[in-house]
Amino acid sequence: MAKERDPARRVRELVQSAGQVRVDNSIAPKKYFRSGVEMEKMAKIYHDEGDLESAFILYSNLFVEKLPHHPEYSKVSQVDKSNNKKSLRRVFNTAEELKGVLKEKYQHEYEEFMVQEAKKREEEEEEAKRRKLIFEKKLEEERIRKEQEALKIPQQQPSAPPLIGDYPVPSTSFQKVLVNDQTAVGDNNRKHRAPIDTEDALQPPSYSSLYSVPITSTPTVDRSTKLVLSSDDSSASGLRKINIPGDLVSYFLHLASENTRKDLETCGILTGRLQKNMFFVTHLLIPKQTSTSDSCTTLNEEELFEFQDSKDLITLGWIHTHPSQTSFMSSVDLHTHCSYQLIMPEAIAIVCSPKYSETGVFSLTQEYGLQFIVNCRQTGFHPHPKEPPLYQESSHVVWDKIASVEVVDLRSKR
Ligand SMILES: [Zn+2]
Ligand SMILES: [Zn+2]
Repeated sequence: MAKERDPARRVRELVQSAGQVRVDNSIAPKKYFRSGVEMEKMAKIYHDEGDLESAFILYSNLFVEKLPHHPEYSKVSQVDKSNNKKSLRRVFNTAEELKGVLKEKYQHEYEEFMVQEAKKREEEEEEAKRRKLIFEKKLEEERIRKEQEALKIPQQQPSAPPLIGDYPVPSTSFQKVLVNDQTAVGDNNRKHRAPIDTEDALQPPSYSSLYSVPITSTPTVDRSTKLVLSSDDSSASGLRKINIPGDLVSYFLHLASENTRKDLETCGILTGRLQKNMFFVTHLLIPKQTSTSDSCTTLNEEELFEFQDSKDLITLGWIHTHPSQTSFMSSVDLHTHCSYQLIMPEAIAIVCSPKYSETGVFSLTQEYGLQFIVNCRQTGFHPHPKEPPLYQESSHVVWDKIASVEVVDLRSKR
């Protein structure tokens, strides 16, 4: 937990992490508008579920503020521009509101942490005092025991007073106690002239473990380890999981079968919802489209968006067939997928090969492929270097045998 950290700093760090998004000019402003709508939906879900940090980061990450700097912004329709402005105001207000709530929350956590710390320190001091008392008591018992022993056999003892001061005395609090002890001997027991075996008196009593712990020390706590241990148990990639209904591929292949017979590709859009930081593919949308044997283009996206908004569905990726090839990502596929994954890091591409009975779920590699494709300016089919890999099988996918997908075929819709 980060409770021990300065609340103002925590808010600052949150704002910084939220401000790291950038707008890529190779992605059309329209796509960003679209993603803005969906991110606002997600932010609202986080907000409703009480995950205020995630909501704040999403609200602050919306592209609305940065979009006007996009070189193609002038081509954007007036309706989109005015929607963007409205959205900017709304989002800004919500983000500010959340920031205030988070500030208060962090302050509260910090104060609570300080109270706990003070309590802990107090307990530690009490413990140190208690140990010191035990130690002194044992020392006193030892002294009395020795004195009594000395009284039993006085003739064997030398008559000289003890010479404790001439002996090297351990430099711990033991020294202090010993000196006090000596004074006590001198004051109260002078009449006995009880000689003390000084050699023995300087030896630590048998409970030597007491000496190894400096009495007033406080135990050291390794907070760095603690932080690591308590960090969130998210997947190694840091991506949220995507739950896919097990029947999705067979439904899709069935809908694609007519095209497949004609050696034409078919594509669909994976949409769904966000719940408790996990995505669920709930709807497979088949948009109006044109296709060839190795490409597929979505038509009338507005219709898609309209449907998605009516159901509050978030875009989670896409699916397409390779009617006569294996399941892999072609260079065109990689560029298509790039705009999905830039906007939604979890977005997946499912590629089905009915001919080879293969299905792959792919993502651009986060650390390399995504940025490589962003920077690649070539269009159409073109070669990409093979190493390091530009894409891989998605590791954040969960196949759900029980869930069922709802299929919406918009191709026949007028
Ligand atoms: Zn393909
Ligand atoms: Zn390329």
